[in-house]
Amino acid sequence: MKFIRFEKDGQLCQGLLTGTEVQKITGDIFSDYTIGKECFGLGEVALLPPCMPAKIVAVGLNYRGHAQEMKMDIPDEPLLFLKPSTAVIGPGAAIIYPKMSQRVDYEGELGVVIGKLCINVSEQDAPDYIFGYTCLNDVTARDLQKKDGQFTRAKGFDTFCPIGPCIETELDPSASIIETLLNGQLRQKTSTADFIFPVYRLVSFISQVMTLMPGDVIATGTPSGIGPMQPGDEVEVRISGIGSLHNRVVVA
Ligand code: MG
Repeated sequence: MKFIRFEKDGQLCQGLLTGTEVQKITGDIFSDYTIGKECFGLGEVALLPPCMPAKIVAVGLNYRGHAQEMKMDIPDEPLLFLKPSTAVIGPGAAIIYPKMSQRVDYEGELGVVIGKLCINVSEQDAPDYIFGYTCLNDVTARDLQKKDGQFTRAKGFDTFCPIGPCIETELDPSASIIETLLNGQLRQKTSTADFIFPVYRLVSFISQVMTLMPGDVIATGTPSGIGPMQPGDEVEVRISGIGSLHNRVVVA
């Protein structure tokens, strides 16, 4: 199932996406909801981020190819950092190129959406705590990441976490093809089979550090092929089985 959030006639709504048809949902998608009779065409609604996470827990260096590209050793445990909830934007929203940076990169990633309160879960039990998956762009001010030596500013600007277009509940996170396109040109393409730490291990690991809440998102790391974006560029993160997340870069 594909869950979305959208705006229609000034109202914020949740919905189920089937092909290009949107069915309105009432209630809480993480606990109890009802699929209504009201239907719209996808073209009649404005998509919003498919969830509003309280936090985004991101993983650095989680693909073997990206570790080679960065000339870094394969880490022995996941490197975690946080992106603020205020960085989240939805499909079609603008990524604002901050004045503080001269180098802003895309990082196409698989986003994991948590479905229920998750504390100290085992890798075997982790699938029960996952609601679904979405496309995510871990936008990064690369120059500030190098300069600061830690990630809060470089990863935390408003608009630096596009997610969407939907949350897909049926996906094999160990065999998805993830692609990033810049102005229609392919820049990243990898299978999640190349993960150093697979999704269930990440959920277990993070849940031993901090409580994950329904709607929280894990950014699982980017494959090789990272590169800069310029104002005016159109960036797309595409994951097989989920869909395409499009955003344009604009000047601050
Ligand atoms: Mg990343």
